[in-house]
Amino acid sequence: MRIRISPTWFGKKPSAACPPKDRSRLRVGIPKVLNIWTTHQFWVGFLKALGVSSENIVFSSDTSEEQGREFGKGRGTVDCCFPVKCMSGHYGELIFGQKKKIDVLFSPMIFSLPSVLRGHVVDTATCSRVAAGPENTKAGFLKERDVFAENGITHAAPFVCLGDRHMAAEQLHASLKDIFDLDLEETQRAVQAGYEALDNFEAKARSRSREILSWCAEHSKPCILILARPYHMDTGIGHDIEGELQAHGYPILWLQYLPADDDLMNWLFAEDLRSGHIKHPLDISDVWTSSYSSNTNEILWGAKVAARCPWITCVIRLSSYECGMDQPTYTPTQKIVEATGTLFFKFGDLDATKPTGSIRIRVETIVHYLAKYSQDVIRKKLALLPPNGPFPAISSGQLPQTQGAVLPVRPNLT
Ligand code: SF4
Repeated sequence: MRIRISPTWFGKKPSAACPPKDRSRLRVGIPKVLNIWTTHQFWVGFLKALGVSSENIVFSSDTSEEQGREFGKGRGTVDCCFPVKCMSGHYGELIFGQKKKIDVLFSPMIFSLPSVLRGHVVDTATCSRVAAGPENTKAGFLKERDVFAENGITHAAPFVCLGDRHMAAEQLHASLKDIFDLDLEETQRAVQAGYEALDNFEAKARSRSREILSWCAEHSKPCILILARPYHMDTGIGHDIEGELQAHGYPILWLQYLPADDDLMNWLFAEDLRSGHIKHPLDISDVWTSSYSSNTNEILWGAKVAARCPWITCVIRLSSYECGMDQPTYTPTQKIVEATGTLFFKFGDLDATKPTGSIRIRVETIVHYLAKYSQDVIRKKLALLPPNGPFPAISSGQLPQTQGAVLPVRPNLT
């Protein structure tokens, strides 16, 4: 005979919601290196959503010779390109150079990146040297003894595919659960907050770039596009070359924050779309078929945009010494940019040394060419595009709100 029981007797009752864990006193240091330059908003949003307070999220300073000498000397572990080598100085600064000690040195191993080109390219992976950088650098602090343990610091290097949004929460939970005492649900919420912060920041930055282009269009003024990897925004890696140019009155656009609005893109790529040359304005298969690497893909796309956008009359290409990823892109980017008469200047092999004198001479040369040829370049490129572009015609003669039309050269990480 069947015994009837109430299903509620043995049913699992929902437990009372756990009180939020107090992480407000936890101090987290993030080395400001590599792709942190374009993902910092994600990490700040993520940590804040976990309860880490803003004042306890600390970034290392820009790369400098002093930083490397004081904090990173003798801790290099690999013979590598400069942007990776300099990580030791950032680690050391966070470990030894803080008035208030950090508890966690947070240095994510980012394997793939969110990118505006995602869905139009094969993948958006990072350079393997970038992804492995945190573990390589950590080894330099374990060589003779465990410097992290000595200083009461936990090294957290979660492996994460930020480009594959559906995977990020599980990956971060798996590697951080013990360090931050995390459960999966709160990790999911924090990841969502991180992406929201990142998306909002990007939308704002792209819209500022659009305002600059709009100002240039209204006043028939040129601007400069910096074609580089995110970490060239670091004044110790890119040597602030764009700052020198901006000082001459030329607005600067960074590739990473170019506007990608449909109206603008469809106008710039109208002929390519009409002829069937490409399927979408974000399609780069016409110039770069092995489109696996996120930053490389964007460099190629940026070159295409620069070649078409009338007010981008000059492209500055920055590249670091020993960058194997950049080598095969030098000729294609230059050819693409120069195909429409746009000026192209390359600063290759940048390393620790800032050759101030030679940079100044080159900047003067660039400024001379910009002054001489920009109006011709604007006219020629406008003639290649359909009439009635997305920017308002010259009307008021008044400077819009973006007077002085300069993007903050580098994003503010605080
Ligand atoms: S992309 Fe180039 S500079 Fe950047 S980490 Fe890789 S090899 Fe180094």
